[in-house]
Amino acid sequence: MSDWEVLALRYADRNARVRGDSFIFDDDHAAPHPMDYFMWLLRRGQEVILVDTGYDASEGARRDRPILIDPREALAAHGLVAEDIGTVIVTHLHYDHAGGLHLFPNATLHMQASEMAYATGPCMCHDALRMPFTGEHICEAVRRLYAGRVVFAEGDAEVAEGVTVHRIGGHSKGLQVVRVRTAAGWLCLASDATHFYENMALGKPFPIVADVAEMLDGFATLNRLASAPELIVPGHDPLVRDLFPQSGPESWILSNGPRKPLPTFG
Ligand SMILES: [Zn+2]
Ligand SMILES: [Zn+2]
Repeated sequence: MSDWEVLALRYADRNARVRGDSFIFDDDHAAPHPMDYFMWLLRRGQEVILVDTGYDASEGARRDRPILIDPREALAAHGLVAEDIGTVIVTHLHYDHAGGLHLFPNATLHMQASEMAYATGPCMCHDALRMPFTGEHICEAVRRLYAGRVVFAEGDAEVAEGVTVHRIGGHSKGLQVVRVRTAAGWLCLASDATHFYENMALGKPFPIVADVAEMLDGFATLNRLASAPELIVPGHDPLVRDLFPQSGPESWILSNGPRKPLPTFG
């Protein structure tokens, strides 16, 4: 079978952040640290898989985190109609990854059983753990389940030939990453298993975390899953736009590898 093409689509950014929002242990907590928000598109001939859905303008208004582009419009720029998307991999159910589930009404969702259990279970009684989730997004996932369109994984699973998911946990109990075969080798979409290159490179946990030990173990798992360190793609790092070639407005092609070497940290 042929390799997959992988695109990163940026739908939002947030610049009023500091390093303290990104690293638990850091000696410069007040320094600016901007963040990008992505969804990812896998294509091979007529096959299309969407990895995460972003969120829409109403969620952006609710959280005062406006979007740059509606997720549906981001896909339309690639000739895709939201209603035609049949497969969505949900890396985890946080608002910025599952906030557009309702925009893709005909998709079957691939997620970890432990993520649904976490988002609908007793941990959500804690404000601090519930904060990155939005009830309506979780309800949409449950509605999809009752429509017979959720496929649960418990650990590792294949979604399509050349596309597998792997539970990492850590940041959210059922966070999974996506391993894709590309022309450049095995690429790993880390999503929030590492928000930034620096989290992984220096073993610095991100402050939104359900299990710190799992998050730290996850950095090693990412390195096992990808053919090379530069084929691990963090979930929110603006550096992705610098390292990989741009392929259109708010779109970067990942599957041919980066066009320059990874920077060193620390
Ligand atoms: Zn998250
Ligand atoms: Zn995120």
